[in-house]
Amino acid sequence: MTAHDHASCQHTARSAAERLAAARGVRLTDSRARVLEIVAESHKPVGAYDILQRLAGERGRAAPPTVYRALAFLVDQGFVHRIDSLNAFVACFDPERAHDAGFLICEKCRTVQEVADPALGAAVKSAVAASGFRPRRVVVEISGLCAECAV
Ligand SMILES: [Zn+2]
Ligand SMILES: [Zn+2]
Ligand SMILES: [Zn+2]
Repeated sequence: MTAHDHASCQHTARSAAERLAAARGVRLTDSRARVLEIVAESHKPVGAYDILQRLAGERGRAAPPTVYRALAFLVDQGFVHRIDSLNAFVACFDPERAHDAGFLICEKCRTVQEVADPALGAAVKSAVAASGFRPRRVVVEISGLCAECAV
């Protein structure tokens, strides 16, 4: 991925989560905020185990249920997305925009780029509609090479 101002991505993820939490009346507790911070450190997916290791390094020990509960909350609120195919998590850098989640997963550098275009989910839903299946949640995970790695 090209060098970009990731500090601003991190700031956006954090402040958007704070605004949304306040608007929804849910609490972004210290441990939830810390887990979000760790996941938002890069655009690469982070596993629950990695988060546990990080917190254990910082706090001496971390209780797995605390981390799993924090992740469940963050995913539920759309602050973090779960990448099923990798069993890992990425931060949402634009949680205030309603979107179906589409992810471009680079097999080489492991960067995950989010496609927040609602047209993606709409296309999948209409393609599926003919079969009579009623989709509830659409998540598209596409693996391949990112623009940087493809050259
Ligand atoms: Zn960034
Ligand atoms: Zn997102
Ligand atoms: Zn790549």
